[in-house]
Amino acid sequence: MKYKRILLKLSGEALMGEQQYGIDSNRLLQYAQEIKEVSRLGVEVAVVIGGGNIFRGVQAEQVGLDRVQGDYMGMLATVINSMALQSALEKLGVYTRLLSGINIQQVCEPYIRRRAVRHLEKGRVVIFGAGTGNPYFTTDSAAALRAIEIEADVVLKGTRVDGIYSADPEKDPEAIFYKNISFKDVFEKGLNVMDMTAFTLCKENNLPIIVFDMNTGGNLKRLVDGEEIGTLVTM
Ligand code: UDP
Repeated sequence: MKYKRILLKLSGEALMGEQQYGIDSNRLLQYAQEIKEVSRLGVEVAVVIGGGNIFRGVQAEQVGLDRVQGDYMGMLATVINSMALQSALEKLGVYTRLLSGINIQQVCEPYIRRRAVRHLEKGRVVIFGAGTGNPYFTTDSAAALRAIEIEADVVLKGTRVDGIYSADPEKDPEAIFYKNISFKDVFEKGLNVMDMTAFTLCKENNLPIIVFDMNTGGNLKRLVDGEEIGTLVTM
């Protein structure tokens, strides 16, 4: 296997599938199966899921609510998604642990770095819920932060496009696809890979990012097998 320990970032929106809101059970199961496959190969898998399919902090501001309150609501949304993924994985016989950045002890363990690493060493899939546990951050930043903390080899950002383009490929047919790109070029070209906090964390800690299409079955396994799919961002 090319990678021993990975951090997989999935957006909450991806969990919606074709729906307008919430969790699509087929999509959830598909993701659980993909994760199971790589975990069975002996790869240590940590997962961060977003909450955009349920709530984002900015939505609170739009309706006149407090932003910080909204961000905590968003973090709780990620816990809901994380619990759903945990259950889907357990149905497939995968051992998992859900560690949360906000204490919710009836449903998950608190995030403790050493504990997370120990779970991974024992072959359990570790899901990090509640983002960083702090308002004004995103789950992309949580993915970068946790990946650095657990010394993951790479952040795999699963999306619905097959990698990074010079422009939005869904809008611009002339958009150029990058197979490899440096952190510097992403920055200089103003490409949208992750938010700036997340991106800077990865850059400053020399943590490679791979943006890939998570909706194509088998892609996660291809990646850990060393196949060059998606876009690799490195120094
Ligand atoms: N959030 C936060 N701190 C974090 C992670 C998330 O406040 O460390 C909140 C924030 O409001 C965010 C929401 O949770 O909008 C859902 O996360 P995100 O937008 O990253 O989800 P995604 O876009 O990946 O579905």
